[in-house]
Amino acid sequence: MSAPTADARTRAPEAKKVHIADTAINRQNWYKHVNWLNVFLIIGIPVYGCVQALWVPLQLKTAIWAVIYYFFTGLGITAGYHRLWAHCSYSATLPLRIWLAAVGGGAVEGSIRWWARDHRAHHRYTDTEKDPYSVRKGLLYSHLGWMVMKQNPKRIGRTDISDLNEDPVVVWQHRNYLKVVFTMGLAVPMLVAGLGWGDWMGGFVYAGILRIFFVQQATFCVNSLAHWLGDQPFDDRNSPRDHVITALVTLGEGYHNFHHEFPSDYRNAIEWHQYDPTKWSIWAWKQLGLAYDLKKFRANEIEKGRVQQLQKKLDRTRATLDWGTPLDQLPVMEWDDYVEQAKNGRGLVAIAGVIHDVTDFIKDHPGGKAMIKSGVGKDATAMFNGGVYYHSNAAHNLLSTMRVGVIRGGCEVEIWKRAQKENVEYVRDGSGQRVVRAGEQPTKIPEPIPTADAA
Ligand SMILES: [Zn+2]
Ligand SMILES: [Zn+2]
Repeated sequence: MSAPTADARTRAPEAKKVHIADTAINRQNWYKHVNWLNVFLIIGIPVYGCVQALWVPLQLKTAIWAVIYYFFTGLGITAGYHRLWAHCSYSATLPLRIWLAAVGGGAVEGSIRWWARDHRAHHRYTDTEKDPYSVRKGLLYSHLGWMVMKQNPKRIGRTDISDLNEDPVVVWQHRNYLKVVFTMGLAVPMLVAGLGWGDWMGGFVYAGILRIFFVQQATFCVNSLAHWLGDQPFDDRNSPRDHVITALVTLGEGYHNFHHEFPSDYRNAIEWHQYDPTKWSIWAWKQLGLAYDLKKFRANEIEKGRVQQLQKKLDRTRATLDWGTPLDQLPVMEWDDYVEQAKNGRGLVAIAGVIHDVTDFIKDHPGGKAMIKSGVGKDATAMFNGGVYYHSNAAHNLLSTMRVGVIRGGCEVEIWKRAQKENVEYVRDGSGQRVVRAGEQPTKIPEPIPTADAA
């Protein structure tokens, strides 16, 4: 918002001088830290508008006009400044570019050139020190603080805006920015209400000043709220989030997690039922021949991101569960030793080469005490996998939490040793944990052996 601060360019001879933003704030210098022009533009003017509203009555026609103009100027930012110029997510014909540059200027958020440069830095350096409005510095900072307080322009990450410098509409708007602001921000809303139905003052206060305030606050929410409230269906390494409330406030810019992953997509909301009037407008302009080359990421790419994020969440949940001691960390036991310990009263059961201590579980066994006891001290592989009752996946899972050792020469041990030797990798999740899918516990024998007491 507001014109870019020019102080960095004019201080070449004292280049080594420390920028005020890089010094600590104290009682003596706090006013030097404040960007007073921006304070006037984004706090002073709205306050003035609120005071005026106390004695300027609001007419219905003016109210409707203010809302319409709110959408025009808001779309100037979202469809124009943001999706067209900052991200090149579609192309626009000259008349549409002139329209968007004009109404976007009426939102009083700085020139396209300045706005898009900062926004590209925001995408490139999200959440870092080089992000001009990083939410990591606080919600209020990302909403207003970054404008109200002076920033060292050198801190903001470098971005390429050569394409914008080649667009004569962008260049013209940048050079004539103050004229655009006064014309589109105040004169036009006032003229329409004044010439239309004689409400000059209402047009100035409601469609002009207070409407500017609402559009500004709404778009500032993309920097603050959209990085703070909602879900992260595509990537959770950075702060951008998706939320319907943010979408409602920002003319559809609320699916911000998607947007940061697929910034050159002309859509923010990809589902038909999600609120994205900016997308609908661009689509309508296309039907009218005003916009073309609307960019979309393939559904395949979008789904890949979604699946990977789901997988990540799943891995995190999996890591919180008890899957039993990993086989390669269990002590190796001789068969005779196993039988000996079972004889001495320890409730040990060997299944598929893995020894389980079921002492505390015997009384809880759903199939009865006798059944489980008959496996103690024996190779119960066939008994567990075959017979009348094929143990459920849940039973195999539960059993794995009771593992205490592996039999030397037991089948899984052999597999494990071979795997190590041949560098065969088990399927592992993002944090290196072995993934055991349903039906894949080592105690599960794919082809049930005919019931026989092998040992
Ligand atoms: Zn963002
Ligand atoms: Zn963006």
